[in-house]
Amino acid sequence: MAPLTGLQIQKLLPKTNCKECGSNTCLAFAMKLAAKKTELAECPYVSDEAKATLGSAAEPPIRAVAIGSEGKGFVAGGETVMFRHEKTFVNQTGIGVALSDRLTPSEIEGAVRQVGAYCLERVGEELRVDLLSVAFKSASQEGFVSTVERVSGLWERAVAIRTDDLAALAAAAAALKGRKPLLASATSDTVDELLVIAQDTGSVLAMASDTLDGLAAMVEKARAVGFKDVVLELRASTLSEHVQNSIVIRRGALKAGLKSLGYPTLKFVDAPDPVDAALEAGIEVAKYGGITVLPAFDPAAFVSLLALRQNIYTDPQKPIQVDPKVYPIGEPDENSPVFVTTNFSLTYFIVSGEIENAGLSAWLLIPECEGMSVLTAWAAGKFGGDQIGAFAKEVQLAEQTQNRKIVIPGYVAQISGELEEALPGWEVLVGPQEAGDLESFIGQVLVA
Ligand code: SF4
Repeated sequence: MAPLTGLQIQKLLPKTNCKECGSNTCLAFAMKLAAKKTELAECPYVSDEAKATLGSAAEPPIRAVAIGSEGKGFVAGGETVMFRHEKTFVNQTGIGVALSDRLTPSEIEGAVRQVGAYCLERVGEELRVDLLSVAFKSASQEGFVSTVERVSGLWERAVAIRTDDLAALAAAAAALKGRKPLLASATSDTVDELLVIAQDTGSVLAMASDTLDGLAAMVEKARAVGFKDVVLELRASTLSEHVQNSIVIRRGALKAGLKSLGYPTLKFVDAPDPVDAALEAGIEVAKYGGITVLPAFDPAAFVSLLALRQNIYTDPQKPIQVDPKVYPIGEPDENSPVFVTTNFSLTYFIVSGEIENAGLSAWLLIPECEGMSVLTAWAAGKFGGDQIGAFAKEVQLAEQTQNRKIVIPGYVAQISGELEEALPGWEVLVGPQEAGDLESFIGQVLVA
């Protein structure tokens, strides 16, 4: 059956526009359903007839599963495409760090505080670790539960509990009731009991198996009792087998419509070498990982990993942007020169950083360029002399500085004449093509 359109779905909805589903109108909700960005269950007033007609056809192919307390956790899954450029990836891979109950209380406290304090600021966003996982490695269930409690007392974000021991998992889940922890993992031997425990404690349940069939059979048990907060852990003996599995799961859910595979995936990276661990986690980020947990916290590895994740999960149709305006760099005054570049965040932060590094106080003029880089914006007719000149007048640039020098990026040297015509009285200087050369340009041309 061909997928239903938003208009066809809307005809089956109550059409009261009550907004309880989070959309302003039933039509908006229907459009989201058609795009598989929400679920029918979000509307409390759907008739049985509509449920029967829409049913699972309106479910997202990969369920979005929230882990952790509201406002403190993260969402995994919810993806609708195989490749980022088809549309966008939606919920970035949750990245976690593994701890063990063999650590002493002071070691736990030190580790939690170190991970909790870590924050990478990149292109205006704050990137952090999402989850801590506590593994049951000691022989003492009591000790395990008290370690889990200690971690959750120090850490507000999501917590995973890792053991195949049913009794230990149940006791730790009870201790974290209300925190929506991730229980990792149910096996074919424990899935029946753990489904009850996950429902009672409001937990997310990872299901682990060595085979796809085994995994699908466990998921069907969850579906049979209406339990939806499932995460898939398909265990593989080699990295290549794991990558193959991840692709099979994604294709099975998106292309074959297999409901039993339509959940986010989980991978515990166990590589002892920190570089290998970071590489494995990077592969998870690139190829369909819902949640990946590293064996240890290494700030150097996390810089690359979080930057990679940010790059992959940025919507290619909506680049990260800064607001169009005049930004002060350093402590500029009425004698400071002006630089101009586009509002693509990466460009803005690199250029402003290079001006700062040169020790110069300046004004940075950022016109609206829809988040494009310099050459793309120029080619799209968004970063010509006329546009920059008009924006400079709109923000009354001439009133902020008496200095009449404006530096344009070297890649668009051809707009200098047009900009001089648009800004009479200003001297247009052609800067370097690469931001990395700004410091020497400033030294040679502006403060020589
Ligand atoms: Fe329409 Fe249901 Fe949403 Fe209300 S909750 S606006 S009835 S779709």
